[in-house]
Amino acid sequence: MPSFVSNLESAIDGTVLSADKIQTLHKDRPLWVRYDLDKIKRSLQIDNLKNRPHNIWRYKELLPLSPEDSVISLGEVVTPIISCEKLGKKYGLDKLYIKDESSLPTGSFKSRGLVMAVNMAKKFGVKTVAIPTAGNAGGAMAAYAARAGMDAYVFMPEDTPLINKFECKVFGAKAFLINGLIGDCGKIVRDGKDNIGWFDMSTLKEPYRIEGKKTMGLELAEQFNWRSPDVILYPTGGGTGLIGMWKAFNELDQLGWLKDGKRPRMVAVQSDGCCPIVRAFDAGERFAEPVENPYTIASGIRVPSAIGDFMILDAVRESGGKAIAVPEEKIIDYMELTAKTEGISICPETAACVVALEMLSNEGWLQADEEIVIFNTAAAQKYPDITEIKFTMIDIGSPIDWDIIRR
Ligand SMILES: *Cc1c(COP(=O)(O)O)cnc(C)c1O
Repeated sequence: MPSFVSNLESAIDGTVLSADKIQTLHKDRPLWVRYDLDKIKRSLQIDNLKNRPHNIWRYKELLPLSPEDSVISLGEVVTPIISCEKLGKKYGLDKLYIKDESSLPTGSFKSRGLVMAVNMAKKFGVKTVAIPTAGNAGGAMAAYAARAGMDAYVFMPEDTPLINKFECKVFGAKAFLINGLIGDCGKIVRDGKDNIGWFDMSTLKEPYRIEGKKTMGLELAEQFNWRSPDVILYPTGGGTGLIGMWKAFNELDQLGWLKDGKRPRMVAVQSDGCCPIVRAFDAGERFAEPVENPYTIASGIRVPSAIGDFMILDAVRESGGKAIAVPEEKIIDYMELTAKTEGISICPETAACVVALEMLSNEGWLQADEEIVIFNTAAAQKYPDITEIKFTMIDIGSPIDWDIIRR
């Protein structure tokens, strides 16, 4: 299938760049992928989607690649939207949903972006890829690089969750721990470009990860029957997901597919231990100052400085949304609360969104009858190291004390 991509475009100054060769940044800032939307409008109707498989490739006209390009894939399924009536009731909200991304390859939504980035790199002849990571991106890249037969290098802070270290290893990546922050990992990847000759897969330093994350918005719109929900709460680190979803809603609107042209209010959620985007939002700035000594157990949003800061802030503001910081110490409790109330395996990043939900409902920013979607960006099972798990041992050599079990 011919691609409908027309060109790349600098997000900072609109400079048009060719999509026919590998591109990275322009003036140290990210690029947009632009499509010939008029041409897509002529060749694709909503009805055409009906008989397509339930995976991200069903939106191939709006992606830089299609399955006909013999893409490498691990089964990037359409993820479920789960109604959360019990949790909603706690906060006086009638229509609360979680879009549960934990069933994607490697157990997090990072696979949406990395399947696209790795495929495009492969298409352009890249043989070696490298990434700095807070955890899940490294695991996802390692998996797709293995599948694509590429060499993968992963650099992560030493306190990255155990499972992320483990998955890099099983997928055969050359993985390294750094006694520093993700920015220090990023510097090694940058410097290694000349030294070792790998391609830099850092967040937003190549244009295609956004296109993969964009499928979250496309799916959501389709699942809501081409209407958009009122509010989306999204745990924001580097921001690819929020930026990608907003791009999806804009493109769908231009195709005329969104009923009433309505788009959601986007809420960027961060921990108060690391909230550069919230600070910039509150100060009315377009760019965010890096945070010193960032801390949060929600490792996916421990991003003290985001290269796409202005793209996140533009999207949040255009949407009429907001950026909100939640108390770090509430995250684990809300993770357990949500999991045991709804049976959904939520990650600590998403738990921050549940804290935000409570705060925004209390302030009256959310209305009882609004449709609200929280993104569960990864499976809880990826984070066994954030809380101490205590069990009572039962000795099968002695009579069982039922009182202990009853308690
Ligand atoms: C990376 C990550 C995030 C943040 O996503 P961005 O799109 O980079 O803002 C949130 N949650 C989890 C679990 C992550 O791995």
